[in-house]
Amino acid sequence: MDGDLAQALKSEARRVGFDMAGVVPATPARRLDAYLAWIEAGRHGSMGYMARPNRVERRLDPSLILPGVQSIVCVGLGYATLALPEAVAADPARGRIANYAWAADYHDVMTPRLEALADWLAARVAGPVANRVYVDTGAILERDHAEAAGLGFTGKNTMLIGPRRGSWFFLGELLTTAALTPDVPAARQPSCGSCRRCLDACPTGAFPVPYVLDARRCISYLTIERKGWIPRALRPLMGNWIYGCDICQDVCPFNRFAPPSLEPAFWAASIEAMAPPLEDLLALDREAFAARYAHGPIRRLGWERFLRNVCVAAGNWGNEQALHGLVRLLATDAPLVRGHAAWALGRVGVTETTAARAGAAKAAMQNALAGETDERVREELQGALAGRG
Ligand code: SF4
Repeated sequence: MDGDLAQALKSEARRVGFDMAGVVPATPARRLDAYLAWIEAGRHGSMGYMARPNRVERRLDPSLILPGVQSIVCVGLGYATLALPEAVAADPARGRIANYAWAADYHDVMTPRLEALADWLAARVAGPVANRVYVDTGAILERDHAEAAGLGFTGKNTMLIGPRRGSWFFLGELLTTAALTPDVPAARQPSCGSCRRCLDACPTGAFPVPYVLDARRCISYLTIERKGWIPRALRPLMGNWIYGCDICQDVCPFNRFAPPSLEPAFWAASIEAMAPPLEDLLALDREAFAARYAHGPIRRLGWERFLRNVCVAAGNWGNEQALHGLVRLLATDAPLVRGHAAWALGRVGVTETTAARAGAAKAAMQNALAGETDERVREELQGALAGRG
């Protein structure tokens, strides 16, 4: 094994723009059993791809991903930028977007850098070498490999935490057939100790026990991964999050001194990119959504799911200013959006709306119900009219 090459590779990783790098042998991840138990318990929700047998097999044996693989190079890139002013974050008239999605899509930033690293390595290894790069795309337990490579420890919120860096960083991997000297993490790692702030702060109770996330209750999952209807019982607990959630990282003491990202691609262009007014978002049609989110990860969510999330946040806002946009959405061609708009209208009606405006919203819902053919949307409209927000 070539220790000098591993050292030089990690220096090169920093030179091409990563903040952290470490090497592990390409053996199965240490917490594979916990992962299998998590799948078995159904805590991955509707992310069926995580449980597909061929993907589980690849996690068990990395050589199924890359025959002859010897090493995994784990890299990290910080994305924490300036914090959102507290008054803005707490404003229910705004929808909150998770920090990682405030600017460029991290896949677009990290993938070319990993490919450059792979080329650099290939040029320095005697004989043929095969490489494969992953940014969140492969069937490997990247957090566990990164932990073994010395990038941090796993917190009770299931995030990887770098002791002087916090958890605001993306992970990527370079799998290679080159035999590189692995890193040996420090014998004594920091840990969460008796802290449980993230567990207590999660509004949807997504951590049944420390170190285990039930994705089905996680706001990030509900707003991004879940394709269909958001369970009614969870909607009121989601606050104003419309894309992802940062709560379990925001409260973590290890993040208090996290260095801000030096990567300009992750700097938000404006407050609107971090927490846009809900009224503006309710007015977005498909074209306006595509134009507004042409760059960055939100575009992959698509208009329907994004507006679904915006409707939930508008329902939690409960302010009459949302009425116009919500009523307009009752006429859209997407049942998912119509149904969540109906739910939100039901909540506006029971909170701050004046009698006249509540009456107008009720009339719009009755009108919509008369012409509605989708059973699920009818249910939402009936629930809203009956005041079952
Ligand atoms: Fe660990 Fe506390 Fe951070 Fe949760 S908030 S990950 S318990 S240190």
